[in-house]
Amino acid sequence: MTKKCVFCGRSHPVVQFSREHVLPAWLSREITLTKHCSYSNQLKGKDLVERNINGQSPFTMTVNKVCRICNNGWMSERLESPVKEILMALIEGRKIVLNDEKKLLISLWSIKTALMRGLIDSEGDPAIMSHYEDIYKLKIPVNTFIWLVNTAPGYSLVSTRHMRFISNENPHKNLSQTNCVAYYTSINIGCLSIQILASKSKDLITDFNVELFNSYLSSCSEELWPIQEKPIYWPLRDCIYTDPRMIMDGVIRHDPLLKINNHVGKQK
Ligand SMILES: [Zn+2]
Repeated sequence: MTKKCVFCGRSHPVVQFSREHVLPAWLSREITLTKHCSYSNQLKGKDLVERNINGQSPFTMTVNKVCRICNNGWMSERLESPVKEILMALIEGRKIVLNDEKKLLISLWSIKTALMRGLIDSEGDPAIMSHYEDIYKLKIPVNTFIWLVNTAPGYSLVSTRHMRFISNENPHKNLSQTNCVAYYTSINIGCLSIQILASKSKDLITDFNVELFNSYLSSCSEELWPIQEKPIYWPLRDCIYTDPRMIMDGVIRHDPLLKINNHVGKQK
């Protein structure tokens, strides 16, 4: 099968492929944080286990499924370059006001990064496949919710986590053939934790889920997407002092987060 760019759908020899970073290379140059980890796991009641796989950190994770035209074109020009200053203020906990324009830009960047992160996990759809096309058109996919969470200043861990939910329509299918119907991604860098919850249909993420998220994180978080009326004043009133990777555990512990019976979590 001819390899196609996951965003634009073009294939070789029309386009060339190269290894692209999940978290952009410019970010690793800006960040002076020292503690990176690429894998974390926690069993109930046990300590969090962290390790690096083949010496990889979130900054060295690369994928080979994006063409150079996409990477050097819209991804760089429309997302990475314009987002840089805003993102660094959020990460470093500096004062910034996010108006609608900035909210849209951070939202697009967050989903793009979640979709790139999804490509690290093998087997099955890396995320909802139509979202790659949406982001290529710089459009926020429907049924997508994004929160910004303020992590305590000085928090130095960089981590990403991606969980996919698959349909239980045909339980006998291999995981490699299954369709992703929803995903939950968190991107944690410095003072900033981005939480993305997306689903294929309106029935999967309920008002209950959104309410839960808002109440669970209360004053430490703001809904970035869908855009709320008031601007976001960063840093927020409050911040969380726990490991931001625990947010996902806390949220998914509540049942039903998503009305899907057969969910498969792929975590890193
Ligand atoms: Zn492409």
